[in-house]
Amino acid sequence: MTIYSDKIRKAIKFASKTHNQYQQQTRKGKVIPYITHPLTVGMILSLAKASEDVIVAGILHDTIEDSPKDKKTTPKMIAERFGKNVTQLVLSVTEQNRNLSWEERKKEALKHIKKFTKDSLLVKSADVLANYSELVDDYSRYGDEVFNRFNAPKEKLIIHQLKVISAILSKWKENPLYWDLVFLAGNLREMCSGEFMNEYPAKIIKVKDFKYDMKIKCPICDWRGTPRSSDNINSDSHFCLDVRCPICDKMILVAEYASANNDL
Ligand SMILES: [Zn+2]
Repeated sequence: MTIYSDKIRKAIKFASKTHNQYQQQTRKGKVIPYITHPLTVGMILSLAKASEDVIVAGILHDTIEDSPKDKKTTPKMIAERFGKNVTQLVLSVTEQNRNLSWEERKKEALKHIKKFTKDSLLVKSADVLANYSELVDDYSRYGDEVFNRFNAPKEKLIIHQLKVISAILSKWKENPLYWDLVFLAGNLREMCSGEFMNEYPAKIIKVKDFKYDMKIKCPICDWRGTPRSSDNINSDSHFCLDVRCPICDKMILVAEYASANNDL
């Protein structure tokens, strides 16, 4: 099998027709052509050494959702050109019911991820990486105004994305894009540290009550685990020991030594 196959070239052509020719679509609130996004997703997947079908699905992943009514891309059209496997992958990352409210749609999407196969998780991972790395970049240049282009406020948008990343990561630990997603989650959290993150204060307990196998949950991204599995225990300080969320780096738990308050 060749690396740059017919099937991949065909997918690029197909996606270009949908996003550029029929839709003349640009990235939300920007002049950059939309096609850069599915191509970035395809590139991330090929760097992650995904299979040909997964790369093809990544390039096609927005064609059903974004095609105009009179030039609708249907699952049948994708099946005829790219096969059943690619079609199922594209459908798995396509929003099912666009008539629901933002909140309901996002809730559905999270439930959906819990049933994903590894290949669907890969496409979703690359989609999230492409979209939100672009947002982090734009944010570093333009600040909070980048959030004007979304249908949801900054806080909701970021918390939802952290939940998506958490759901993807807890489903598949060997995901080749695992550390890219962890890094992205840190950047997303950084965009709002000092703002709403403070509304979720860490739980404070005494060190004698601290256990490595105690169940903890991140209030931001819903990650669940034990301090031991989080690998984010900081015990350098003489006064306390803190545990951070391995996904979004939020401080979840602080265990204070009994003498700390007296010494200070
Ligand atoms: Zn978290």
